[in-house]
This record gives sequence, structure tokens and C-alpha cells, in this order.
Amino acid sequence: MTSPPRIDGSHGEGGGQIVRTSLALAIVTGRGVAIDNIRAGRKEPGLKRQHLTAVNAAAEICGGRVTGAAVRSRAVTLEPGPVRPGNYHFNVGSAGSATLVLQTVLPALLIADGPSSLILEGGTHNPWSPPFDFLQRVYLPLVERMGPRVIARLERPGFYPKGGGRFVVSVQPSPTLRGFDLLERGEIVATRARVLLSNLPPHIAERELDTVVKKLRWRRDQCAIDELPSHGPGNVLTLEVESEHATELCTAFGRLGIRAEQVAREAIADVEAYLATDAPVGPHLADQLLLPLGLSARQARERGEATGGGSFRTLPLTEHSTTHIELLRTLLDIQIEVTPAPDAATCTVRVSP
Ligand code: ATP
Repeated sequence: MTSPPRIDGSHGEGGGQIVRTSLALAIVTGRGVAIDNIRAGRKEPGLKRQHLTAVNAAAEICGGRVTGAAVRSRAVTLEPGPVRPGNYHFNVGSAGSATLVLQTVLPALLIADGPSSLILEGGTHNPWSPPFDFLQRVYLPLVERMGPRVIARLERPGFYPKGGGRFVVSVQPSPTLRGFDLLERGEIVATRARVLLSNLPPHIAERELDTVVKKLRWRRDQCAIDELPSHGPGNVLTLEVESEHATELCTAFGRLGIRAEQVAREAIADVEAYLATDAPVGPHLADQLLLPLGLSARQARERGEATGGGSFRTLPLTEHSTTHIELLRTLLDIQIEVTPAPDAATCTVRVSP
């Protein structure tokens, strides 16, 4: 038996994404994986609760054998078994991101041989993670373009530090992931600002939206406030740009000691950076699309086809994306080419067998 590939968890960006993608691909390919130096350069190295939940979730959906599954563990191995679609409940047990746990198990469930229903609990709106709304409005519509049907519904938002959020996801898989090319944004068809508020005074939301109206010149009827029950206080501003071929959603999080106007300016700066080019794919979506397109390319190769995977145009790549590209090339044995535009303001990423 060949030994499983060894993945250095401290390589490149060196964060939790290396762990999640390595596990996700181990399950899909049925090939074991050994990850060490996990988050070695971080202030609190090793697995945090969120990552540990992802490790256990990965093992559970394939009945795999795992070692090193403990908080602060810096080395994990997974010997996967066959994917078992079905009903699952994963609870981070802290405010750690539940959307990142989903990222770990979703790829395998998208191409499984039966439907799945998932309940995920933990943080649903965390800085440095995809907020639930990003998942629902930006990421999943593109996953659905590849064949599967995935519906996500938020039952309760969970914010740092209380957590306690909950969402449900149903997956109707498609054995083959169709690739796509997303090179043009097309016309902008709608822009929306939304404040999600829990257990905090409404003037915070009003001031954030006033700032959006003033700085972006979006109309008041494009703005909404959703006050939702949660276990703790929370304030999230999302700015959505829906275009003909893609949607982008920029997020800022209210936090103690930061004025509402400043929170709004953070999300506004991200929207302005997105709108300053005509690329359809924003920086976070870029790193998240690489995996499903990589799987599509890998499936095409397994069928003996030269085309598969796809391409997209995005802003200059983040270190997250460049690290992800190297990892996917290694684990899936596929081609990923990055071609910057002559003015370097955008680049085209091509993923192929
Ligand atoms: P670490 O704590 O080691 O940095 P982590 O496990 O919390 O790691 P990362 O490895 O940094 O997470 O990966 C975070 C993921 O969340 C990436 O896929 C990134 O694109 C995504 N992400 C971060 N912020 C946003 C955002 N505002 N909108 C959408 N996606 C986001």
C-alpha cells in the first residue's frame, strides 16, 4: 500500500483551509491524507474547535479512520471509507464557523450516490469566514450551475462570542460536476444593502445604512434591516452586487469600540474595489470556486476527456487562493493556470484536466 500524501499545513497562507481542502479531497478521491504543521504559524497553532468539527465531520461522512482529532492537535491523518450520504448534524460547540465545516463535507456530498440533509450549528456570521449569506447568495448558485441542487436555510444567526447559530442544508447530488466559464460580469441587475441585527439598538443599523446611501449613492429602498433573535449580540452589514452572471457580497462586522460608520466604510471599500474592475468573481469566491472546478476537471480526466473544469476572471489573487491552487494541483493532479491581464487589475484562472 502506498503511504498517503503528506501535506504541510504551514505552507503558504498556512491556515485552516489547507486542513479542510486536504480532508475534502481525501474523501472524494478515497486516498488517505496526513497533514502536519497544522496552522503552525498562527497565534494559537493546531486545530481550533471549528477545524476539529470539520475533521470529525469528514471522518463521519465516510466512516473513515482518523488520528490526531483533538483541539490544538498539529497533525491529523484520515483514512477514508466510501462516502455515505444521509442525515448529519454537526455542532462546532463554540462560535467557530459552521459554514467552514460545511465546506469540508460538501464536495463529497455533491457527487455522492444519494441525497443528504445537514444541520450545522456554531457561528454563521464570522469575520474571516464565509458568512451564511455569502454561502447562500454567492457560492451555492455557482455550485448549482455545476449540476447539484443545494438549498441552505438559516434558522438562527450565531455571532462571536456566543455562537449558537443554526442552518440546514439539503443536497441533491449530481454524479458529474459540469464545468463553467465565468469571464464576464454582464450588467449589474441589482444592488442591496442589508443589516442583520441581534440584541443591539436599531440606531446602529440606521447609521450603517445612512453611510451606504451617502457614499455609494444606493437608494434607501435598496436597504433593509433584519432584526433576528440570536444567543448574543450581533451586527453584520452585507452589500450585495447582483450581476447577470455572478453575485458578489461584501461583509463588515460591527464590534465593540468601532463606530457604525466605520463598519459601513469597511464593506463599502470592498464593494468599491470589486466595482473598480469588471471581473465577475470577488477575492473570496475565487479561492472557494477552485475546489469544485478542480473536481470537475479531475472527473473529466477520469472519463478520458481533455476538457472539463472551467475558468473565471477575478481580482489579483490572494495568498489564500495561491496556496489553494498549489494544494489542488498536488492532490488532484490537475492543471491550474493563472494569466494576469495586461494592466494586472484582474486575472483569468483556468482549471483543466
Ligand atoms: P485560520 O484561523 O488558520 O486563518 P480558518 O480556518 O479560520 O483559518 P482560512 O483558512 O483563513 O480559515 O479560510 C477562510 C475561508 O473563508 C476562505 O475560504 C475565505 O475565502 C473565506 N472568507 C473569509 N472572509 C470571507 C468573507 N468576508 N466572505 C466570504 N468568504 C470569506
